[in-house]
Amino acid sequence: MANDSDLIPPGAAIERLATGSTWAEGPLWIPDEGAVRWSDIPGDRIMRWSAATSEASVHRSGVEFTNGRMLDRDGSVVQCSHGRRRLEREMPDGTVAEIVSRWGEHRVNSPNDVALAPDGSYWFTDPDYGITQPREGHPGIREYGGCHVFRWSEVDGLTSVIDDMDRPNGIAFSPGGGTVYVTDTAGQQEGPGRWIRVYDVSGSRASGGRLFARIEVGAPDGIAVDVEGRVWSSAGDGIHVFSPYGSEVLFIPVPEVVSNLCFGGDDGTELFITATTSLYRIRTSTTAARS
Ligand code: MG
Repeated sequence: MANDSDLIPPGAAIERLATGSTWAEGPLWIPDEGAVRWSDIPGDRIMRWSAATSEASVHRSGVEFTNGRMLDRDGSVVQCSHGRRRLEREMPDGTVAEIVSRWGEHRVNSPNDVALAPDGSYWFTDPDYGITQPREGHPGIREYGGCHVFRWSEVDGLTSVIDDMDRPNGIAFSPGGGTVYVTDTAGQQEGPGRWIRVYDVSGSRASGGRLFARIEVGAPDGIAVDVEGRVWSSAGDGIHVFSPYGSEVLFIPVPEVVSNLCFGGDDGTELFITATTSLYRIRTSTTAARS
């Protein structure tokens, strides 16, 4: 496979920053804190790694199985809670409040990951892992029957935007937000492996869903898009980077199964990676797409 060596500066290597999680997920760089926050889902806690001290600590525990998170424009953190079956907001002062938990009369399943759309709305995936995997939430049923991708905004409330996937999981927008990438951690699509799908976005709608790229080892879970539109995907063997046209341009081996990743650091070029028990970092030559 091709390797775009320009994306990783000379001498940069994978380093393990912290370990001891049971299943680490949902990393987010928080600029105001100079820290990465992530979920240890089975440990039912949120972890924090500080760049200033290079030390990890427990941010909060008994968090009802949070998973993915994103930074909102006001500096608050929007995160998914399997246990409470909702999207919630954590303010800088630590208070947590529900954003949305129902689609009509039905509760959502267990929100997994969330991304900020250019119009300020929140798009989140809703597979059922938090109601089917006992260590990741509480047993429950799919009240609306499927596993959709939802859009939430203050004005429009909750609407279903994607309903043709098996277990939608990671989600990220292209630069400018004209397309949205969503990973599927299950499902029969075309041949072996698991797929990242892509959809055209027009305002509050997604359409034209199609296959984008295949992960052969394990599954694509969390993804990130860089400023030039490349898609950085988690996988069982490391991180696979795809051009906007779906061809693989870089592979970064990681010692543990990768769940998710985010750009961060003071200049935005550090890639933080949650992988099974640990948080890793590697320096890159790019930064996250702005939505
Ligand atoms: Mg996930």
